Amino acid sequence: MDADLVVVGSGFFGLTVAERIAEQYGRKVLVIDRRSHIGGNAYSEANPETGIEVHKYGAHLFHTSNERVWEYVNRFTAFTSYQHRVYTTHKGEVFQMPINLGTINQFFRSAYGPDEARALIKEQAAELDGKTPENLDEQGVNLIGRPLYEAFIRNYTAKQWQTDPRDLPASIISRLPVRYTYDNRYFNDRFEGLPVDGYTAWIERMADHKNIEVKLGVDFFDESQPISKGNVVGNVPVVYTGPVDKYFDYAEGDLSWRTIDLKEEVLDIGDFQGCSVMNYADADVPFTRIHEFRHFHPERDYTTDKTVIHREYSRFAEHGDEPYYPINTAADREKLLAYRDLAAAEKSVLFGGRLGTYKYLDMHMAIGAAMSMVDNKLAPYFGKGDALVSGGVDA
Ligand code: FAD
Ligand code: UDP
Repeated sequence: MDADLVVVGSGFFGLTVAERIAEQYGRKVLVIDRRSHIGGNAYSEANPETGIEVHKYGAHLFHTSNERVWEYVNRFTAFTSYQHRVYTTHKGEVFQMPINLGTINQFFRSAYGPDEARALIKEQAAELDGKTPENLDEQGVNLIGRPLYEAFIRNYTAKQWQTDPRDLPASIISRLPVRYTYDNRYFNDRFEGLPVDGYTAWIERMADHKNIEVKLGVDFFDESQPISKGNVVGNVPVVYTGPVDKYFDYAEGDLSWRTIDLKEEVLDIGDFQGCSVMNYADADVPFTRIHEFRHFHPERDYTTDKTVIHREYSRFAEHGDEPYYPINTAADREKLLAYRDLAAAEKSVLFGGRLGTYKYLDMHMAIGAAMSMVDNKLAPYFGKGDALVSGGVDA
């Protein structure tokens, strides 16, 4: 093998590392992926019946406030002016999500101004009595008061995580803004949009470099082929972006993950729901949300007599399922510490990305973390000939 670096996994983390080392340091990079395509979970393809771009592993919305990441991604794709807005159905009525003054006034059949709404929510959150929220349940009540929490968060969260919200970290819903204005944009970030030619065109441009070779359908743990853990580690530096527990053959136990099942349907109508994402807040609807892909690209000339939807169902991941969201219970955090020690001792292997660090990373975070790994670990090695410092699970 004449590669200077092997990257396991062709998601945004792996491709960013590969592109930077190939371009900036002129080194040869071999990227492998066990799937039949590059791009990891951001991969998308045109639905054969309608031509509508479908995000195969779940809808992906790009947003960031990180200027360095924004400048970098714009080298490979232009972005549309799409702004994400989400609605939620509760007891047969549609509300705006995230919770904002529009949601609050519709829910309470009121016409509160920002200060009145704030005062009401404060009163409805008073049961916490100034206590710092220690779990998702307390955090929810603290942020929006009990009535709104029970209507829009409690059952949705229980469906999505299949875990009592009292056993989930408060941080999960800190991702979701609460606004005392009528601003119903889903994200607060400075830059937002969807890749003009789709995710796959973007990803392919990242990998299209004379110093990058990609091999698909190759599993790093398949010792019957040459680019396996046993054949590569110790001979060539490796950036590994697969699951960290799997790398160590689950020696410290399984880290728990949530997976999703997406049920795809092509419908003989032009528009099913009038928006890209409709959440279902109530316990009696088994799915969490419906994605309708045509609405991600209103600028495209899609067929007007058919539409593609995904119903999203959530459940615990078993071995063999795609691990999507780290659940991160206290027991998981203990195991992760043990895996970090193992990773630090693994010579010339760096662990990165969502699966390799057991962290929920948005795309811009995965790209930013990959750039930091290049700056802090790979640049000194390839640029100055320093020793490679292993580990990286906490990168
Ligand atoms: P991945 O994309 O998971 O790539 C890892 C790659 O490693 C995979 O291709 C896998 O096949 C490969 N691999 C694993 N094990 C092996 C092995 N043994 N041998 C060879 N290859 C292996 N982010 C956003 O910014 N906005 C969103 O709206 C958004 N929505 C999301 C929705 C869902 C359902 C999910 C799951 C994620 C979403 N994300 C979103 C997050 C986004 O997908 C990640 O940030 C991004 O994919 C991280 O890239 P990664 O390279 O770390 O991991
Ligand atoms: N959430 C909720 N109701 C909603 C939307 C979100 O309770 O209508 C909570 C839920 O706990 C979820 C978290 O907010 O896990 C983060 O939501 P986000 O939309 O960011 O989740 P993702 O798109 O990553 O699944």
